Amino acid sequence: ALADSGAPTIFDKIIAKEIPVDVVYEDDVCLAFRDISKLAPTHVLVIPKVRGNLTSLSKAEESDKDTLGHCLVVANKVAKQENLGEGYRVVVNVGPNGCQSVYHLHLHVIGGVQLTWPPG
Ligand code: 5GP
Repeated sequence: ALADSGAPTIFDKIIAKEIPVDVVYEDDVCLAFRDISKLAPTHVLVIPKVRGNLTSLSKAEESDKDTLGHCLVVANKVAKQENLGEGYRVVVNVGPNGCQSVYHLHLHVIGGVQLTWPPG
């Protein structure tokens, strides 16, 4: 249950290539890489390269629409690349109650196994 301090996060170091990650997709707007602690056979994080105000989805503004839409389209590109044709899940954890631990907006793309619902 971490709060949003607005401080730089580990994802800045990942974007700067100071911390190595397994990149699965990259373009001008976003980076997609494998989660270090995977919860399913495919567990990829899609993040905007420029965080700006987007520490969390709770900070989203009208001006973020293109970035947010782009990240969603990339999530589906990643899913196709990972052969998740049987389905997958995109999750955005928001704030302490949403179990967000890194305050740089990110989409979890999870799949490769039958998932369960509802979450805890
Ligand atoms: P959240 O809990 O904020 O929704 O998701 C943050 C995710 O970032 C977690 O699933 C965590 O495993 C992942 N993560 C944190 N630090 C690193 C790292 O240094 N490398 C990678 N690849 N993933 C990380």
